Amino acid sequence: MRLTELLQKEEVTISCELFPPKLGTQLENYKNIVKQMAELKPAYMSVTYGATGGTSDYTVELANEVLNVNHIPALAHLTCASSTKEKVASVIEELKEKKIENILALRGDIPQNVDFPLPNQYKHASELIADIKAQGDFCIGGACYPEGHPEADTIYDDLAHLKEKVDAGCEFLTTQMFFDNNILYNFMYKALKMGIDVPVVAGIMPVTNANQVKRIMSLSGNMVPPRFLAIVDRFGADPDAMKQAGIAYATEQIIDLIANGVNHVHIYTMNKPDIAGAILDNLSYIYKRDEK
Ligand code: FAD
Repeated sequence: MRLTELLQKEEVTISCELFPPKLGTQLENYKNIVKQMAELKPAYMSVTYGATGGTSDYTVELANEVLNVNHIPALAHLTCASSTKEKVASVIEELKEKKIENILALRGDIPQNVDFPLPNQYKHASELIADIKAQGDFCIGGACYPEGHPEADTIYDDLAHLKEKVDAGCEFLTTQMFFDNNILYNFMYKALKMGIDVPVVAGIMPVTNANQVKRIMSLSGNMVPPRFLAIVDRFGADPDAMKQAGIAYATEQIIDLIANGVNHVHIYTMNKPDIAGAILDNLSYIYKRDEK
């Protein structure tokens, strides 16, 4: 199923994310995680590409597990900054073979201490998107940054480049995580004014341990509201309490989003079916899994 079929409807969708293991790791454990996540009946599941310490080599394999073994729509991430155009083309062929129709097309982070881009590389996600479109009949998504991408001088520069991505063929957007919903509402207002009118899926990260907060703040420069920091200060040293508070905070964020008409939410579940399950249980009358 093409994800735009889901995202163009008014119905609420909640999706989950998986990251593949490092090369050489037993895939069986990861297939088991896919199965447990699939049993939660998310609207779709995405599989990252070489992010969070995982390897890109297993992305297609796990996306295949999502779609063809567990029968949940799959979204395969595909980055280009660390690959040649030939490598990207070969992954596109693998996706076609497995009938995976949805790709989240990303530049990826630029590798350090190398010349970038080389002549056989894509410089921006917009170039990758245009080429994926030329190479097959995919439903293509892209990333967006409610607080602006860290490399962009201003949010308006970033939005202008985002518009280029949409014009290149990007049919929906998934946001970077944010911890204050007003940041998303302001972003969506500005994006619409720039003519960016494709569905936006709000990315929510349940922060369930104190170390995650430090990592998130140093990596992405996310604005973390005092209300959230108070939770970390009070419960950070008690893992069970922090997990419970993190699940409650993410649940509240999602309820507020849906109440304000943002119907599509992607949970950065970080391969943790227990956390995804707890959030979905909290939303059982809002996202009716029994009807899926
Ligand atoms: P782009 O859209 O190319 O933008 C990157 C920067 O370049 C921005 O500052 C933009 O404003 C600027 N720019 C774009 N076009 C132009 C232009 N024509 N001229 C000048 N500047 C321009 N990383 C992974 O490695 N694997 C993953 O699976 C992964 N999944 C992600 C999923 C989501 C939802 C998000 C939000 C991020 C994900 N990332 C992943 C991280 C992402 O790869 C990085 O944030 C990366 O730095 C930017 O990728 P992009 O596709 O947004 O790049």
